[in-house]
Amino acid sequence: MIKHSIYRFGGGATDAADAGVAGDKTLLGGKGANLAGMAAIDLPVPPGITIGTDMCAIYIAADRSFTDDFLAALTDGIGHIETATGKSFGDPSNPLLVSVRSGARVSMPGMMDTVLNLGLNDATVEGLAAASGDARFAWDSYRRFVQMYADVVLGLDHGLFEEALEIAKEDRGFADDTQMGADHWRALVGEYKAIVAAELGRDFPQDVNEQLTRAIGAVFDSWQSERARVYRRINAIPHDWGTAVNVQAMVFGNMGDTSATGVAFTRNPSTGEKAWYGEWLVNAQGEDVVAGIRTPQYLTLAARDEAGARLPSMEEAMPEVFGELGRVFDTLETHYRDMQDIEFTVERGQLWMLQTRAGKRTAPAALKIAVDMAHEGLISEEEAVARVEAQALDQLLHPSLDPAAVRDVVARGLPASPGAASGIAVFDADTAERRAGAGDRVILIRTETSPEDIHGMHAAAGILTARGGMTSHAAVVARGMGRPCVSGAGTLSIDAKAGSLKVAGRAFAEGDMLTIDGSTGEVMAGEVATVQPELSGDFGVLMGWADKVRRLGVRANAETPADCRVAREFGAEGIGLCRTEHMFFDAARIAAVREMILADDEAGRRVALAKLLPEQRADFAGIFTEMAGLPVTIRLLDPPLHEFLPHADKDFDEVAAASGVSVEKLRARAAELHEFNPMLGHRGCRLGVTYPEIYEMQARAIFEAAIDVAEGKFAADSSARHVASESPNPSHPAQAEPVEAPARAALRQAQGERGGEGIVAPIPEIMIPLVGTARELELMKTVVDDTARAVFAERGREIAYLVGTMIELPRACLMADEIAASAQFFSFGTNDLTQTTLGVSRDDAGRFLGQYVDKGIYATDPFVSIDVAGVGQLIELAAQRGRGARDGLKLGICGEHGGDPASIDFCESVGLDYVSASPYRVPIARLAAAQAALAARNRSGDGKGDK
Ligand code: PEP
Ligand code: MG
Repeated sequence: MIKHSIYRFGGGATDAADAGVAGDKTLLGGKGANLAGMAAIDLPVPPGITIGTDMCAIYIAADRSFTDDFLAALTDGIGHIETATGKSFGDPSNPLLVSVRSGARVSMPGMMDTVLNLGLNDATVEGLAAASGDARFAWDSYRRFVQMYADVVLGLDHGLFEEALEIAKEDRGFADDTQMGADHWRALVGEYKAIVAAELGRDFPQDVNEQLTRAIGAVFDSWQSERARVYRRINAIPHDWGTAVNVQAMVFGNMGDTSATGVAFTRNPSTGEKAWYGEWLVNAQGEDVVAGIRTPQYLTLAARDEAGARLPSMEEAMPEVFGELGRVFDTLETHYRDMQDIEFTVERGQLWMLQTRAGKRTAPAALKIAVDMAHEGLISEEEAVARVEAQALDQLLHPSLDPAAVRDVVARGLPASPGAASGIAVFDADTAERRAGAGDRVILIRTETSPEDIHGMHAAAGILTARGGMTSHAAVVARGMGRPCVSGAGTLSIDAKAGSLKVAGRAFAEGDMLTIDGSTGEVMAGEVATVQPELSGDFGVLMGWADKVRRLGVRANAETPADCRVAREFGAEGIGLCRTEHMFFDAARIAAVREMILADDEAGRRVALAKLLPEQRADFAGIFTEMAGLPVTIRLLDPPLHEFLPHADKDFDEVAAASGVSVEKLRARAAELHEFNPMLGHRGCRLGVTYPEIYEMQARAIFEAAIDVAEGKFAADSSARHVASESPNPSHPAQAEPVEAPARAALRQAQGERGGEGIVAPIPEIMIPLVGTARELELMKTVVDDTARAVFAERGREIAYLVGTMIELPRACLMADEIAASAQFFSFGTNDLTQTTLGVSRDDAGRFLGQYVDKGIYATDPFVSIDVAGVGQLIELAAQRGRGARDGLKLGICGEHGGDPASIDFCESVGLDYVSASPYRVPIARLAAAQAALAARNRSGDGKGDK
């Protein structure tokens, strides 16, 4: 029976499955959906109910209160649990205890609240003691409940209770909780209740129904907590999703030595290896494993052996239950067709599954698991492509420690999240955030982390803890964020208040440099050299599958031959943006650039431009060689000229000497060039309109370089990055014999290039920036075409080229049909288009945009992920109008969004031809493009669905 989104599961009921919503995480939350799923395939799940996520918003909107109807439905739900367990809620003779847990649509580890052992009061605790035959256990459970409830529901500081426990132990001379007997716990419960009464002026609630409704309310409230909001902001989770609440019969892992609790993954979440992987604790309650309070034992004998651990594995200590657990793992993997992260409890020899969900994993593990599962036939190749989060590939491309580097190892912990990081030691999250914000790389060092540390973990380059296992908060969160992490380095003695760390007889203070290796668990003093990662065979396999699926082309933004080479190695199919201004900052030529800017007539500018021409030609020749046969989009000069102006006296002196103009005159000219709003000033094609000779020089350099390369006049070896003839710069002597890199030679052969000729001719695509009117482009295209004609006539050779424009202004989007008349391609410069559409300066937005995202004004930073509703509309309109005017107009994107998976999905949906991203983001873009193609196929209804 379903009322008010309350779904029963376990004990023979599968309401959600009956209603056809068993897998609906939107409604049931991740945990609820999986509990329903496990119940539906007859796995041993303690009976319970899931209160749907829709109730979260209703509760908050109703001033945090419940309707009578809801309460009646809740009573029905509790009735189901009572029937299934044969116990009775609030009944002292046979009490039912429940857990109340959050469960959002996606897992938000540790961010929201949980209450365990609910239903205990002064009467039912006696009933529990009688029913279990274990008074110590009953009173221990009650004191845990009072503390948890007081913290989560009543808002009291848990430190008050911890202090009382410490005093109770000290008074009795106990070192350990296990020495506390039933009477000691009973006495402590009395003290705990006295603390509650003293702090709140009212007694701890004895009415179990009041306990229940208030706990449910507290879980809903925790969705709104500060830490949950921060987590959602970092992980781009919408604030309006809400959480579900699961109320479930308690089972106890702390009922003696035949009881246990544990967490497990069906495959290794760090490496992806196909081996059960987990930790467990005898005679403990679930939270003990993840909280890092006791050091957990290994699940399998093999893992224990490998670690050389003293305590027995579950495989040895409880072979029968372990066997059953293994069968459950297999059932779950086959059913969910993904690696599962499982929580279980053994109560007096009986196995209970508390939770299953797709396990969080490192990027290498995600890759291996997806490829392995496809090879095992569990999922299709396309599903494998869809499974690996594109953004997470970033982790694979991160450096690791140079094996040859000297390591001053001071401690060892668990390899909790792979990758290496060096940084200065900091001891609290706020300092981590502050110092990272100031530009430092920091290692956040904590005894153990908690959800309050999340902002510091995000800001840190790496995380190091003294306590906690592989499933501790630090480990889980670091893996999710892709931060290297070493956890449980037990020899560290950390004094967070003093900001110091002692280990192996050495002391480190805040600011001292440390290195951690999250793949081996090593902690090192000082900075250790790193090496670039070797990509495994699985990477190539998955990329191959992705390439089969994607429609969008993937290019790179690059302006040096070295970057072009990296881009090609990562699979770039061309250059989507070569920003020529970066080349102008080169120390060898900045004086000529300044001379050009400060010249007060065309003749003066041409003198300076003539000095730049050979340099610029060499730049392009290097790039064309590297990108042989592929399109290379070169953007003509774009930035406001003031960016190149001299600042220091010595700069003025240099320009004066080179140009023969007095320093005073140059200073006066620099003052004249001052702009109030340079980003909206004399930049982009406006430079070409007023000084066509600049664009003419750049076009000439492009065409001459292209012909040089096609004729083999340029050395392919990037160590000699200059043209083979007529280099006027003595530091760049001409090459008599061009040397060809073996790779290029092979390429040339493969492409059937004629002998005696040069490298496959590049395809220059000349791009005019910041166009707002058709006439601007028309004028600039004429400059380029005239220059092409002149160069082709001089050289007696023609090469194919295109002229197109960046679309970076709202007006350009609106007038796209007219602009398309002289554009052979459009490339959306979404950095500027976002800036000009939103009226938000891309350079100053950092000051306030964080708050805009926090307050839900923008769902994500619009400079990171396209503002689909606004900027997206303009792009779509420009694409339609442009293609309406010119059939087959080539469309691409080259703003930062070109490497952002969500934006790539948008680009697919509006039918762009390619995206262009920075070289290291090319693999991300390839995978995201494939995922976007699959999503588009599913949207249009011809998806092949699950296989
Ligand atoms: C853009 O504006 O999106 C762009 C790619 O150009 P730039 O970032 O160089 O202004
Ligand atoms: Mg721009």
